[in-house]
Amino acid sequence: MKVIKFGGSSLANGTQLKKVLQIVKDDADRRIVVVSAPGKRNDSDEKVTDLLIKLADEVKNKEDHQKTLKTILKRYQDIVDELEIDPSVMDIISKNYEKLIQTKFYNELYALDAYKASGEDNSAILVAAFFNKEGIPAKYVNPKDAGLLVTDNPGNARVLPESFKNLYALRDSKEIIVFPGFFGYTKDGQLLTFSRGGSDISGAIVANGVKASLYENFTDVDAIYVANPKMVKHPKKIKQLTYREMRELSYSGFSVFHDEALQPAFSAGIPVVVKNTNNPSAPGTSITRTKPENKQIVSGIASSTGFMSIYIGKYLMNREVGFGRRVLQIFEDFNLNFEHMPSGIDDLSIILRANQMTMQQEQELLYRLKNELEADDVQVKGGICLLMIVGEGMVNSVGTVAKACTALAEADINLEMINQGSSEVSIMFGIDEKDEARAVKVLYDAFFPAKKD
Ligand code: ASP
Repeated sequence: MKVIKFGGSSLANGTQLKKVLQIVKDDADRRIVVVSAPGKRNDSDEKVTDLLIKLADEVKNKEDHQKTLKTILKRYQDIVDELEIDPSVMDIISKNYEKLIQTKFYNELYALDAYKASGEDNSAILVAAFFNKEGIPAKYVNPKDAGLLVTDNPGNARVLPESFKNLYALRDSKEIIVFPGFFGYTKDGQLLTFSRGGSDISGAIVANGVKASLYENFTDVDAIYVANPKMVKHPKKIKQLTYREMRELSYSGFSVFHDEALQPAFSAGIPVVVKNTNNPSAPGTSITRTKPENKQIVSGIASSTGFMSIYIGKYLMNREVGFGRRVLQIFEDFNLNFEHMPSGIDDLSIILRANQMTMQQEQELLYRLKNELEADDVQVKGGICLLMIVGEGMVNSVGTVAKACTALAEADINLEMINQGSSEVSIMFGIDEKDEARAVKVLYDAFFPAKKD
Protein backbone atom coordinates (compact mmCIF):
# COMPACT_ATOMS: atom_id res chain seq x y z
CA MET A 1 0.00 0.00 0.00
CA LYS A 2 1.32 3.42 -0.99
CA VAL A 3 0.36 6.78 0.46
CA ILE A 4 0.45 9.53 -2.11
CA LYS A 5 0.37 13.23 -1.32
CA PHE A 6 -0.35 16.07 -3.75
CA GLY A 7 0.76 19.64 -3.12
CA GLY A 8 -1.22 22.78 -3.87
CA SER A 9 0.00 23.27 -7.44
CA SER A 10 -1.20 19.73 -8.30
CA LEU A 11 -4.71 20.69 -7.15
CA ALA A 12 -4.88 24.25 -8.43
CA ASN A 13 -7.36 23.63 -11.26
CA GLY A 14 -9.28 20.96 -13.16
CA THR A 15 -6.46 20.23 -15.59
CA GLN A 16 -4.16 19.43 -12.69
CA LEU A 17 -6.80 17.25 -11.04
CA LYS A 18 -7.07 15.15 -14.18
CA LYS A 19 -3.34 14.44 -13.88
CA VAL A 20 -3.86 13.50 -10.24
CA LEU A 21 -6.60 11.06 -11.24
CA GLN A 22 -4.40 9.47 -13.88
CA ILE A 23 -1.52 9.05 -11.43
CA VAL A 24 -3.82 7.33 -8.93
CA LYS A 25 -5.23 5.09 -11.66
CA ASP A 26 -1.74 4.13 -12.85
CA ASP A 27 -0.87 2.15 -9.74
CA ALA A 28 -3.36 -0.02 -7.84
CA ASP A 29 -1.20 0.27 -4.68
CA ARG A 30 -1.94 3.99 -4.41
CA ARG A 31 -4.74 3.60 -1.85
CA ILE A 32 -4.55 6.74 0.27
CA VAL A 33 -4.41 10.19 -1.26
CA VAL A 34 -3.48 13.12 0.98
CA VAL A 35 -4.30 16.53 -0.46
CA SER A 36 -3.34 20.17 0.03
CA ALA A 37 -5.58 23.15 -0.61
CA PRO A 38 -5.65 24.50 -4.18
CA GLY A 39 -2.42 26.41 -4.77
CA LYS A 40 -1.37 29.03 -7.30
CA ARG A 41 -2.42 28.56 -10.94
CA ASN A 42 0.25 31.01 -12.09
CA ASP A 43 2.87 33.28 -10.55
CA SER A 44 0.49 36.14 -9.88
CA ASP A 45 -2.23 33.93 -8.38
CA GLU A 46 -2.99 33.51 -4.66
CA LYS A 47 -2.95 30.26 -2.70
CA VAL A 48 -6.31 29.36 -1.15
CA THR A 49 -4.56 29.10 2.25
CA ASP A 50 -3.40 32.72 1.97
CA LEU A 51 -6.90 33.81 1.02
CA LEU A 52 -8.25 31.96 4.05
CA ILE A 53 -5.84 33.76 6.36
CA LYS A 54 -7.15 37.02 4.92
CA LEU A 55 -10.75 35.85 5.40
CA ALA A 56 -10.07 34.89 9.03
CA ASP A 57 -8.64 38.35 9.63
CA GLU A 58 -11.56 40.14 8.05
CA VAL A 59 -14.11 38.13 10.00
CA LYS A 60 -12.20 38.68 13.24
CA ASN A 61 -12.04 42.44 12.65
CA LYS A 62 -15.69 42.54 11.57
CA GLU A 63 -14.66 43.93 8.18
CA ASP A 64 -16.43 43.23 4.91
CA HIS A 65 -15.38 39.70 3.99
CA GLN A 66 -17.70 39.04 1.04
CA LYS A 67 -15.12 39.64 -1.68
CA THR A 68 -12.55 37.29 -0.16
CA LEU A 69 -15.16 34.61 0.50
CA LYS A 70 -16.39 34.86 -3.08
CA THR A 71 -12.84 34.51 -4.42
CA ILE A 72 -12.31 31.37 -2.31
CA LEU A 73 -15.62 29.79 -3.34
CA LYS A 74 -14.88 30.58 -6.97
CA ARG A 75 -11.64 28.61 -6.77
CA TYR A 76 -13.64 25.48 -5.89
CA GLN A 77 -16.50 26.36 -8.25
CA ASP A 78 -14.11 26.69 -11.21
CA ILE A 79 -12.78 23.19 -10.59
CA VAL A 80 -16.29 21.76 -10.22
CA ASP A 81 -17.33 23.42 -13.50
CA GLU A 82 -14.20 22.43 -15.40
CA LEU A 83 -14.47 18.79 -14.38
CA GLU A 84 -18.28 18.67 -14.49
CA ILE A 85 -18.47 17.32 -10.96
CA ASP A 86 -21.95 16.98 -9.41
CA PRO A 87 -22.90 20.56 -8.40
CA SER A 88 -24.13 19.31 -5.00
CA VAL A 89 -20.45 19.28 -3.92
CA MET A 90 -20.49 23.05 -4.16
CA ASP A 91 -23.50 23.17 -1.81
CA ILE A 92 -21.53 21.20 0.75
CA ILE A 93 -18.49 23.48 0.41
CA SER A 94 -20.54 26.69 0.57
CA LYS A 95 -22.38 25.43 3.67
CA ASN A 96 -19.07 24.54 5.31
CA TYR A 97 -17.94 28.14 4.87
CA GLU A 98 -21.25 29.57 6.07
CA LYS A 99 -20.95 27.47 9.20
CA LEU A 100 -17.31 28.41 9.74
CA ILE A 101 -18.01 32.13 9.50
CA GLN A 102 -20.87 31.82 11.99
CA THR A 103 -18.79 29.88 14.50
CA LYS A 104 -17.80 31.89 17.57
CA PHE A 105 -14.25 31.03 18.63
CA TYR A 106 -13.07 31.90 22.11
CA ASN A 107 -9.44 31.75 20.98
CA GLU A 108 -8.27 33.72 17.93
CA LEU A 109 -5.50 31.26 17.16
CA TYR A 110 -7.93 28.35 17.10
CA ALA A 111 -10.11 30.37 14.73
CA LEU A 112 -7.20 31.03 12.39
CA ASP A 113 -6.33 27.32 12.27
CA ALA A 114 -9.94 26.36 11.52
CA TYR A 115 -9.99 28.79 8.57
CA LYS A 116 -6.63 27.63 7.23
CA ALA A 117 -7.54 23.93 7.50
CA SER A 118 -10.79 24.41 5.60
CA GLY A 119 -8.71 24.81 2.43
CA GLU A 120 -7.48 21.20 2.55
CA ASP A 121 -10.73 19.88 4.04
CA ASN A 122 -12.90 21.12 1.17
CA SER A 123 -10.22 20.16 -1.33
CA ALA A 124 -10.46 16.55 -0.10
CA ILE A 125 -14.27 16.57 -0.36
CA LEU A 126 -13.98 17.82 -3.93
CA VAL A 127 -11.29 15.34 -4.98
CA ALA A 128 -13.28 12.39 -3.57
CA ALA A 129 -16.36 13.52 -5.54
CA PHE A 130 -14.26 13.80 -8.70
CA PHE A 131 -12.79 10.31 -8.31
CA ASN A 132 -16.26 8.82 -7.78
CA LYS A 133 -17.59 10.59 -10.83
CA GLU A 134 -14.71 9.09 -12.83
CA GLY A 135 -15.57 5.59 -11.61
CA ILE A 136 -12.87 5.31 -8.93
CA PRO A 137 -14.64 4.50 -5.66
CA ALA A 138 -13.28 6.99 -3.15
CA LYS A 139 -14.22 8.38 0.23
CA TYR A 140 -13.30 11.52 2.10
CA VAL A 141 -12.02 10.82 5.61
CA ASN A 142 -11.79 13.53 8.25
CA PRO A 143 -8.63 13.48 10.43
CA LYS A 144 -10.84 13.51 13.55
CA ASP A 145 -12.62 10.32 12.55
CA ALA A 146 -9.29 8.74 11.62
CA GLY A 147 -7.79 9.66 15.01
CA LEU A 148 -5.01 12.00 13.89
CA LEU A 149 -4.28 13.56 17.28
CA VAL A 150 -2.00 16.55 17.82
CA THR A 151 -0.54 18.71 20.59
CA ASP A 152 -2.23 21.96 21.59
CA ASN A 153 0.07 24.31 19.64
CA PRO A 154 -1.98 26.43 17.25
CA GLY A 155 -0.31 26.87 13.88
CA ASN A 156 2.50 24.56 14.89
CA ALA A 157 0.90 21.37 16.17
CA ARG A 158 2.85 18.13 16.61
CA VAL A 159 1.51 14.66 16.10
CA LEU A 160 0.74 12.59 19.21
CA PRO A 161 2.14 9.04 19.05
CA GLU A 162 -1.22 7.31 19.55
CA SER A 163 -2.28 8.67 16.15
CA PHE A 164 -0.23 6.04 14.34
CA LYS A 165 -2.14 3.17 15.92
CA ASN A 166 -5.47 4.85 15.20
CA LEU A 167 -4.63 5.44 11.56
CA TYR A 168 -3.81 1.78 10.93
CA ALA A 169 -7.54 1.12 10.46
CA LEU A 170 -7.45 3.12 7.21
CA ARG A 171 -5.87 0.06 5.64
CA ASP A 172 -9.22 -1.72 5.73
CA SER A 173 -11.00 0.67 3.38
CA LYS A 174 -12.29 -0.84 0.16
CA GLU A 175 -12.44 2.60 -1.40
CA ILE A 176 -9.54 4.93 -2.06
CA ILE A 177 -9.24 7.31 0.85
CA VAL A 178 -8.94 11.02 0.24
CA PHE A 179 -7.49 12.61 3.34
CA PRO A 180 -7.05 16.36 3.90
CA GLY A 181 -3.52 17.32 4.88
CA PHE A 182 -2.27 20.06 7.20
CA PHE A 183 -4.35 19.47 10.37
CA GLY A 184 -5.36 17.19 13.17
CA TYR A 185 -7.30 17.42 16.43
CA THR A 186 -6.28 17.73 20.06
CA LYS A 187 -7.60 15.16 22.53
CA ASP A 188 -10.24 17.76 23.43
CA GLY A 189 -11.43 17.79 19.85
CA GLN A 190 -9.90 21.13 18.90
CA LEU A 191 -8.83 21.45 15.24
CA LEU A 192 -5.22 22.64 14.88
CA THR A 193 -2.85 22.91 11.94
CA PHE A 194 0.78 22.00 11.50
CA SER A 195 3.15 24.76 10.41
CA ARG A 196 2.81 26.13 6.87
CA GLY A 197 3.42 23.58 4.17
CA GLY A 198 2.31 20.94 6.66
CA SER A 199 0.34 18.67 4.32
CA ASP A 200 3.65 16.92 3.75
CA ILE A 201 3.66 16.10 7.45
CA SER A 202 0.13 14.65 7.30
CA GLY A 203 1.17 12.44 4.40
CA ALA A 204 4.13 11.09 6.33
CA ILE A 205 2.01 10.52 9.45
CA VAL A 206 -0.59 8.57 7.49
CA ALA A 207 2.16 6.61 5.73
CA ASN A 208 3.59 5.67 9.11
CA GLY A 209 0.14 4.81 10.52
CA VAL A 210 -0.85 2.44 7.73
CA LYS A 211 2.71 1.08 7.46
CA ALA A 212 2.87 2.04 3.80
CA SER A 213 5.51 0.49 1.55
CA LEU A 214 6.18 3.93 0.05
CA TYR A 215 5.27 7.56 0.67
CA GLU A 216 5.03 9.39 -2.66
CA ASN A 217 5.11 13.16 -2.43
CA PHE A 218 3.97 14.78 -5.67
CA THR A 219 4.93 18.36 -6.33
CA ASP A 220 5.87 20.44 -9.37
CA VAL A 221 9.54 19.67 -9.92
CA ASP A 222 11.12 16.61 -11.55
CA ALA A 223 13.46 16.05 -8.64
CA ILE A 224 15.20 17.74 -5.78
CA TYR A 225 18.12 19.67 -7.18
CA VAL A 226 21.64 19.76 -5.83
CA ALA A 227 21.39 23.55 -5.43
CA ASN A 228 18.71 26.20 -5.74
CA PRO A 229 17.91 26.65 -9.49
CA LYS A 230 17.42 30.37 -8.81
CA MET A 231 21.12 30.63 -7.98
CA VAL A 232 22.65 27.95 -10.20
CA LYS A 233 21.65 27.45 -13.82
CA HIS A 234 20.37 23.91 -14.51
CA PRO A 235 21.72 22.27 -11.38
CA LYS A 236 22.04 18.49 -11.27
CA LYS A 237 19.15 16.40 -9.99
CA ILE A 238 19.51 14.30 -6.89
CA LYS A 239 18.57 10.64 -7.41
CA GLN A 240 18.81 9.49 -3.84
CA LEU A 241 19.22 11.10 -0.43
CA THR A 242 19.24 9.76 3.09
CA TYR A 243 16.72 11.08 5.63
CA ARG A 244 19.57 12.83 7.42
CA GLU A 245 20.76 14.59 4.29
CA MET A 246 17.24 15.70 3.44
CA ARG A 247 16.70 16.96 6.97
CA GLU A 248 19.85 19.10 6.81
CA LEU A 249 19.04 20.42 3.35
CA SER A 250 15.46 21.36 4.17
CA TYR A 251 16.57 23.02 7.38
CA SER A 252 18.87 25.26 5.43
CA GLY A 253 16.65 26.37 2.63
CA PHE A 254 15.44 23.47 0.45
CA SER A 255 11.76 24.19 0.36
CA VAL A 256 10.61 21.26 -1.79
CA PHE A 257 9.67 19.20 1.19
CA HIS A 258 8.68 20.10 4.75
CA ASP A 259 11.57 19.10 7.01
CA GLU A 260 9.26 17.88 9.79
CA ALA A 261 7.67 15.45 7.36
CA LEU A 262 10.68 13.23 7.49
CA GLN A 263 10.39 12.18 11.09
CA PRO A 264 7.23 10.02 10.86
CA ALA A 265 8.52 8.35 7.69
CA PHE A 266 12.00 7.98 9.13
CA SER A 267 10.87 6.43 12.41
CA ALA A 268 8.95 3.74 10.53
CA GLY A 269 11.68 3.37 7.89
CA ILE A 270 9.23 4.14 5.08
CA PRO A 271 10.97 5.23 1.88
CA VAL A 272 9.88 8.56 0.47
CA VAL A 273 9.93 9.66 -3.14
CA VAL A 274 9.47 13.22 -4.41
CA LYS A 275 7.90 13.27 -7.87
CA ASN A 276 6.38 15.66 -10.39
CA THR A 277 2.62 15.65 -11.09
CA ASN A 278 3.36 17.30 -14.44
CA ASN A 279 5.91 14.63 -15.40
CA PRO A 280 5.11 11.50 -13.40
CA SER A 281 7.35 9.23 -15.44
CA ALA A 282 10.47 11.08 -14.24
CA PRO A 283 12.03 8.95 -11.48
CA GLY A 284 12.14 11.83 -8.95
CA THR A 285 14.28 11.81 -5.84
CA SER A 286 14.06 9.00 -3.34
CA ILE A 287 14.79 9.45 0.34
CA THR A 288 15.79 6.41 2.33
CA ARG A 289 17.53 5.46 5.57
CA THR A 290 20.77 4.53 3.82
CA LYS A 291 22.04 4.79 0.30
CA PRO A 292 24.75 3.00 -1.62
CA GLU A 293 28.14 4.66 -1.35
CA ASN A 294 29.10 6.61 -4.43
CA LYS A 295 31.89 8.85 -5.58
CA GLN A 296 29.84 11.97 -4.97
CA ILE A 297 30.83 13.14 -1.48
CA VAL A 298 28.59 16.19 -1.37
CA SER A 299 24.88 15.58 -2.03
CA GLY A 300 23.57 19.12 -1.90
CA ILE A 301 24.30 22.78 -1.20
CA ALA A 302 21.75 24.91 0.60
CA SER A 303 21.54 28.42 1.97
CA SER A 304 19.22 30.36 4.17
CA THR A 305 19.17 34.02 5.19
CA GLY A 306 17.68 35.97 8.10
CA PHE A 307 20.11 35.00 10.86
CA MET A 308 22.05 37.10 13.35
CA SER A 309 24.96 36.29 15.60
CA ILE A 310 25.66 37.48 19.11
CA TYR A 311 29.30 37.28 20.05
CA ILE A 312 30.31 37.09 23.71
CA GLY A 313 33.96 37.40 24.66
CA LYS A 314 35.37 36.94 28.16
CA TYR A 315 38.92 36.16 29.20
CA LEU A 316 39.16 32.68 30.81
CA MET A 317 35.60 31.81 29.85
CA ASN A 318 36.72 28.20 29.47
CA ARG A 319 37.45 27.95 33.20
CA GLU A 320 34.21 29.48 34.40
CA VAL A 321 31.91 26.67 35.49
CA GLY A 322 28.30 27.28 34.44
CA PHE A 323 29.07 30.09 32.00
CA GLY A 324 27.30 28.44 29.05
CA ARG A 325 24.27 27.65 31.19
CA ARG A 326 23.98 31.26 32.32
CA VAL A 327 24.24 32.51 28.72
CA LEU A 328 21.50 30.18 27.61
CA GLN A 329 19.33 31.03 30.63
CA ILE A 330 19.30 34.66 29.50
CA PHE A 331 18.25 33.58 26.01
CA GLU A 332 15.55 31.41 27.53
CA ASP A 333 14.27 34.35 29.60
CA PHE A 334 13.69 36.18 26.32
CA ASN A 335 11.99 33.08 24.88
CA LEU A 336 14.57 32.86 22.11
CA ASN A 337 15.45 29.75 20.12
CA PHE A 338 19.06 29.49 19.15
CA GLU A 339 20.29 27.55 16.15
CA HIS A 340 24.05 27.13 16.69
CA MET A 341 26.67 27.96 19.24
CA PRO A 342 30.22 27.81 17.91
CA SER A 343 32.77 28.50 20.64
CA GLY A 344 36.44 29.27 21.23
CA ILE A 345 38.53 29.43 24.42
CA ASP A 346 37.53 32.90 25.48
CA ASP A 347 34.50 33.47 23.34
CA LEU A 348 31.34 32.01 21.94
CA SER A 349 28.72 33.08 19.42
CA ILE A 350 25.07 32.35 19.42
CA ILE A 351 23.45 32.15 16.00
CA LEU A 352 19.71 32.73 15.96
CA ARG A 353 16.90 33.72 13.64
CA ALA A 354 16.73 37.50 13.60
CA ASN A 355 12.94 37.77 13.34
CA GLN A 356 12.46 36.64 16.94
CA MET A 357 13.30 40.01 18.50
CA THR A 358 12.40 43.67 18.31
CA MET A 359 15.16 46.31 18.50
CA GLN A 360 14.13 47.08 22.06
CA GLN A 361 14.39 43.41 23.12
CA GLU A 362 17.75 43.19 21.42
CA GLN A 363 19.04 46.13 23.47
CA GLU A 364 17.75 44.58 26.69
CA LEU A 365 19.31 41.22 25.82
CA LEU A 366 22.70 42.78 25.10
CA TYR A 367 22.56 44.75 28.33
CA ARG A 368 21.85 41.63 30.38
CA LEU A 369 24.52 39.57 28.62
CA LYS A 370 27.15 42.21 29.20
CA ASN A 371 26.28 42.92 32.82
CA GLU A 372 25.18 39.61 34.26
CA LEU A 373 28.00 37.66 32.61
CA GLU A 374 30.54 40.40 33.19
CA ALA A 375 31.61 39.87 29.58
CA ASP A 376 34.55 41.81 28.13
CA ASP A 377 32.81 42.20 24.82
CA VAL A 378 29.34 41.60 23.42
CA GLN A 379 28.67 42.26 19.77
CA VAL A 380 25.76 41.68 17.51
CA LYS A 381 25.84 41.19 13.77
CA GLY A 382 22.79 40.87 11.56
CA GLY A 383 22.36 39.96 7.91
CA ILE A 384 23.93 36.52 8.21
CA CYS A 385 23.38 33.73 5.70
CA LEU A 386 23.97 30.12 6.64
CA LEU A 387 25.50 28.15 3.86
CA MET A 388 25.46 24.40 4.15
CA ILE A 389 27.12 21.59 2.28
CA VAL A 390 25.55 18.25 2.97
CA GLY A 391 26.64 14.69 2.25
CA GLU A 392 26.88 11.36 4.07
CA GLY A 393 30.15 10.73 2.20
CA MET A 394 31.98 13.49 4.11
CA VAL A 395 32.54 11.25 7.14
CA ASN A 396 34.95 9.05 5.22
CA SER A 397 36.73 11.64 3.15
CA VAL A 398 39.29 14.33 3.74
CA GLY A 399 39.57 17.75 2.22
CA THR A 400 35.90 18.76 1.87
CA VAL A 401 36.27 21.79 4.16
CA ALA A 402 39.51 22.76 2.45
CA LYS A 403 37.89 22.57 -0.97
CA ALA A 404 34.91 24.66 0.14
CA CYS A 405 37.06 27.25 1.90
CA THR A 406 39.35 27.57 -1.10
CA ALA A 407 36.42 28.12 -3.44
CA LEU A 408 34.93 30.75 -1.13
CA ALA A 409 38.30 32.46 -0.57
CA GLU A 410 38.99 32.65 -4.30
CA ALA A 411 35.65 34.38 -4.70
CA ASP A 412 36.64 36.82 -1.94
CA ILE A 413 33.81 35.70 0.33
CA ASN A 414 34.49 36.29 3.99
CA LEU A 415 33.62 33.50 6.45
CA GLU A 416 32.06 34.64 9.71
CA MET A 417 31.82 31.14 11.09
CA ILE A 418 32.47 27.49 10.29
CA ASN A 419 30.55 24.77 12.08
CA GLN A 420 30.70 21.07 11.42
CA GLY A 421 27.80 19.14 12.95
CA SER A 422 28.82 16.23 15.18
CA SER A 423 27.18 13.83 12.74
CA GLU A 424 29.58 15.00 10.02
CA VAL A 425 26.71 14.99 7.56
CA SER A 426 26.99 18.71 7.02
CA ILE A 427 29.36 21.64 7.22
CA MET A 428 27.98 25.08 7.77
CA PHE A 429 29.46 28.45 6.95
CA GLY A 430 28.20 31.80 8.13
CA ILE A 431 28.60 34.50 5.48
CA ASP A 432 27.23 37.94 4.71
CA GLU A 433 23.75 37.76 3.16
CA LYS A 434 24.82 39.82 0.18
CA ASP A 435 27.22 37.04 -0.90
CA GLU A 436 24.59 34.27 -0.79
CA ALA A 437 23.97 33.59 -4.49
CA ARG A 438 27.63 33.94 -5.41
CA ALA A 439 28.71 31.58 -2.64
CA VAL A 440 26.22 28.88 -3.67
CA LYS A 441 27.42 29.17 -7.24
CA VAL A 442 31.13 28.84 -6.43
CA LEU A 443 30.50 25.87 -4.13
CA TYR A 444 28.41 24.21 -6.82
CA ASP A 445 31.18 24.70 -9.35
CA ALA A 446 33.72 23.29 -6.89
CA PHE A 447 31.78 20.14 -5.99
CA PHE A 448 29.86 19.55 -9.20
CA PRO A 449 32.27 20.59 -11.94
CA ALA A 450 30.90 20.45 -15.47
CA LYS A 451 32.13 17.32 -17.23
CA LYS A 452 34.78 18.05 -19.86
CA ASP A 453 34.24 16.25 -23.16
N1 ASP B 1 -2.02 24.69 2.37
C1 ASP B 1 -1.06 24.76 3.43
C2 ASP B 1 -0.06 25.87 3.18
O1 ASP B 1 -0.15 26.58 2.20
C3 ASP B 1 -0.39 23.45 3.70
C4 ASP B 1 0.25 22.80 2.51
O2 ASP B 1 -0.02 23.15 1.38
O3 ASP B 1 1.06 21.88 2.74
O4 ASP B 1 0.80 26.08 3.99
